[in-house]
Amino acid sequence: ISSVDLVTALLERIESCDGEIQAYITVDEKGALASARKADERLANGDSTPLLGIPVALKDLLCTKGLATTCASRMLEGFVPQYDATVVEKLKESGAVILGKTNLDEFAMGSSTENSGFHITRNPWSLDHVPGGSSGGSAAAVAARLCTASLGTDTGGSIRQPASHCGVVGIKPTYGRVSRFGLVSYASSLDQIGPITRDVRDTAIMLNALCGHDPRDTTSANVAVPDFTAALDEYETQGLKGMVAGIPKEFLSVKGLDSDVEKAFYHSVKQLESLGVEVKEISLPHTDYAVAAYYVIAPSEASSNLARFDGVRYGYRDTEAADLIGMYKKTKSKGFGDEVQRRIITGTYALSAGYYDAYYGQATKVRSLISQDFSRAFEGCDIIISPVAPTPAFKIGENVDDPLTMYLTDIFTLSTNMAGLPGISIPCGHGKTGLPIGFQMMANRFDEMALVRAAYGLE
Ligand code: GLN
Repeated sequence: ISSVDLVTALLERIESCDGEIQAYITVDEKGALASARKADERLANGDSTPLLGIPVALKDLLCTKGLATTCASRMLEGFVPQYDATVVEKLKESGAVILGKTNLDEFAMGSSTENSGFHITRNPWSLDHVPGGSSGGSAAAVAARLCTASLGTDTGGSIRQPASHCGVVGIKPTYGRVSRFGLVSYASSLDQIGPITRDVRDTAIMLNALCGHDPRDTTSANVAVPDFTAALDEYETQGLKGMVAGIPKEFLSVKGLDSDVEKAFYHSVKQLESLGVEVKEISLPHTDYAVAAYYVIAPSEASSNLARFDGVRYGYRDTEAADLIGMYKKTKSKGFGDEVQRRIITGTYALSAGYYDAYYGQATKVRSLISQDFSRAFEGCDIIISPVAPTPAFKIGENVDDPLTMYLTDIFTLSTNMAGLPGISIPCGHGKTGLPIGFQMMANRFDEMALVRAAYGLE
């Protein structure tokens, strides 16, 4: 099949199905067909780069030169970047075709894609359920076959949780593994970009294209990048014998863990054991404090990062106010949605002089303790395993007016970000409602190879 045929077929499918699912914010038909034609020429000349001609979708938080980038915010409606994010450059160099930009919770703040400033995205498995978030558009697009693979970003679970809810594979690489240059920052010390794909082989291929040091991102790690597809061969030749997996006892005792999720989790545990993995109980003693610490640190960083959206430099500007302060106020209260405003207010409060030590300072201490918990745990195991979310996807509207309940659903994913570790979510079954359930594996810094290998074995 030629890239033009593939892209044409997907554009037709987007036309017929995306009206209901609404995974995309922008579809770049012209650009996609033009790059597909170029890819076909390269293919005809014998170029066999793995991603050549493959149509991918990008979370609309990644800057794309000449293509609108909204962050699903009214604030950035009509903003067209002058440059590509490093990951977009890398994908283009690999010959991938950019199909369009996908929906998200505004500025990636949320767990259901209901906080988008434009429209909600529906779960392709059941249209009255959320696809998860914040990379809900990217996960739904892969699940509904509206692209071959996509990119998401993960600050506290936003790749792994929507991947889990949509029955696809999502990996958050180690902090620093993938350049954040050109990613609109939410919480800079936690954000990572990663792929969402149909299977683990595609994950390995995408990681090969995305990872690597970038001098334009000062937090980008200058470490060697392995060939991630070699982890698949390692599995074929050596299996998983000798691998040790830890189950954090604090994770399985959280309140509100759905019985289908628990069943699916233990089913995968058995499977790992039958593949020769030694499974044992471990402890991450500071788990109870993770959600509270995260929801101080992430909004604090967000309040600082979002200060640049002031009506002067980018996007939306209110023109009714009489003076400068009035213009700031009106621009921000009309341009940002409720959740983003809530985070800015919380973050500004936590960082303010009188409260810094009591909130932000404390939260960073808890973050160090969580990091130490993981370091200690990894002295005795290769991977740590857990559910991805306490329940399968919930109904649209169910948690919208209850931010606290929404925040609590991040319990299994956000510690990984606080410690900078890689984590993967792979499908491991379905609940009674038929909605997919994901299985999470976490590894030590820069050990994505272990995750790819184990995920390939389980798949
Ligand atoms: N749900 C979390 C939050 O709202 C995580 C979001 C993310 O990973 N971008 O902060």
